[in-house]
Amino acid sequence: MSKVNVTDVILRDAHQSLIATRMRTEDMLPICDKLDKVGFWSLEVWGGATFDACVRFLKEDPWERLRELRKALPNTRLQMLLRGQNLLGYRHYADDVVEAFVAKAAENGIDVFRVFDALNDLRNLETAIKAVKKAGKHAQGTICYTTSPVHTEALFVKQAQELKAMGADSIAIKDMAGLLTPYATYDLVKAIKSGVDLPVFIHSHSTAGLAAQCQLKAVEAGAEHIDTAISSFASGTSHPATESQVAALRGTQWDTGLDLELLGEIADYFREVRKKYHQFESEFTREDVSVQINQVPGGMMSNLANQLKEQNALGRIREVFAEIPAVRKDLGYPPLVTPTSQIVGTQAVLNVLSGERYKTITNEVKRYLQGGYGHPPAEVDAQLQTKAVGKEELIDGRPADLLSPEMARLTKEIGELAKSDEDVLTFAMFQDIGRQFLEQREAGTLEPEQLLPATQGGRAMDEGVATEFKIDVHGETYQVAITGVGGKESGKRHVYLSIDGLPEEVMFEPLNAYVGGTTASGRLQASAPGHVTTGMPGNIVDVLVAAGDEVTAGQAVLITEAMKMETEIQAPIAGKVKGVHVAKGDRVTPGEVLIEIEG
Ligand code: MN
Repeated sequence: MSKVNVTDVILRDAHQSLIATRMRTEDMLPICDKLDKVGFWSLEVWGGATFDACVRFLKEDPWERLRELRKALPNTRLQMLLRGQNLLGYRHYADDVVEAFVAKAAENGIDVFRVFDALNDLRNLETAIKAVKKAGKHAQGTICYTTSPVHTEALFVKQAQELKAMGADSIAIKDMAGLLTPYATYDLVKAIKSGVDLPVFIHSHSTAGLAAQCQLKAVEAGAEHIDTAISSFASGTSHPATESQVAALRGTQWDTGLDLELLGEIADYFREVRKKYHQFESEFTREDVSVQINQVPGGMMSNLANQLKEQNALGRIREVFAEIPAVRKDLGYPPLVTPTSQIVGTQAVLNVLSGERYKTITNEVKRYLQGGYGHPPAEVDAQLQTKAVGKEELIDGRPADLLSPEMARLTKEIGELAKSDEDVLTFAMFQDIGRQFLEQREAGTLEPEQLLPATQGGRAMDEGVATEFKIDVHGETYQVAITGVGGKESGKRHVYLSIDGLPEEVMFEPLNAYVGGTTASGRLQASAPGHVTTGMPGNIVDVLVAAGDEVTAGQAVLITEAMKMETEIQAPIAGKVKGVHVAKGDRVTPGEVLIEIEG
């Protein structure tokens, strides 16, 4: 009767938390037959990051993935994570886009919608929950768990009651950072169960190593559902291992009834799959109790580490972690989950890398402080708010009420490239990247990012994949094959060779990196007060000035995008624009002269 139900997150959150969301559909489908036989209450298969990674890196159509999974998993509920009014994107959408998105997701195979808002501003869930009910699907109202002076048990119970009143079929406690402790979980679940008559799901990351214990206490307190991950993608910033939790509950009144042997076979499969993605593994996905201080959720941890690595600033990750709670407090203690995790994380990175707190404020932090994401849980820092928002008006209503319907405009904007409403929604979610995906699909040039060959001790094992040539040095002949080309690190590229059958790794560095005074891109190294530069590597989204323009100090001259966040770059001094060395779409690195201003 009181059996505990299991939702396995292997196809979404597990790889999002451990390998930067890179698992490909081709590695999911072969095991679906077995996954479908387990008897999971649901499988979580879709969400913002999986959608994003499909379009951005894997060059897969995320809708096609969903349809394939639907076909391959006929007996299991498919579940997705939806960011309320943000859907799977990073901004608020008009209600008609939310309605269209939910309808299409349901039509393509989603049964259970876990709907949340990063600020727990429930006004941002209303439209989505209504749309889920309209589609006849399961609407799961979600509480983002966090700790702060304002996040009390009573507040969470009140939220659960409001979610029920809104039409939610169940309540999820979403502990993305692994902040729950076993006894706090017990009390919270007890309180929610006695205040609301709905099934409760516990989604807790093992970041602090406590989630498995939390789930047991939750079950004792009356929670009927737990989220777990197949062991080969479990623990650390991911979730408690499915097999372990099944074993823990076996023979008790909560027995899940799942077959451990079958689960073991599935774990063996994914253990092999994981090796293929070794380049996305990060040491920051291991268990670490310090999360109880810095509150960084699993997905954010591995992405932050990857992003800093790309910028050659991985060594400063501890400083960034230390800065995060300070930024969070200034912003009124938002729970850290997309998009607030990116908003807080990117601002913390900027504060650390630029050496001065809020020297640069991202557009998203400005919008947030303006009320553009909803009500922050607590008062924000008034001084910072004034600095960021200036004289512009604050928003007190539901942010989406300021938006007019946009499906028609989006459909027109993407035009012929969209073959379906699903395509329009892909474009709606990711604009430039969505368009690029559809263009490449049209041109037949979609190509997934390259995976590094499987390694052993950092060396290539695969041989003779690409080019093979013989070289003659001092009368000796070598057989050389290029076996793989890796990513860039500090501007150098890893290349894997096989020399006479033995694996070697070399690093290539572009020659112009040695040309005095210029960077690898050929731009000058910033040295004068009028040199406009950026603290973070990123892309140029917009150039706001032209040569000859007069600018004032602090005037926005560029908009860059880094870590999915846009930042305004301001003129360091007043004067005349002497030269503009960037154009929209350019990739830039810190320290380069992007614009020259003559004071
Ligand atoms: Mn999660």
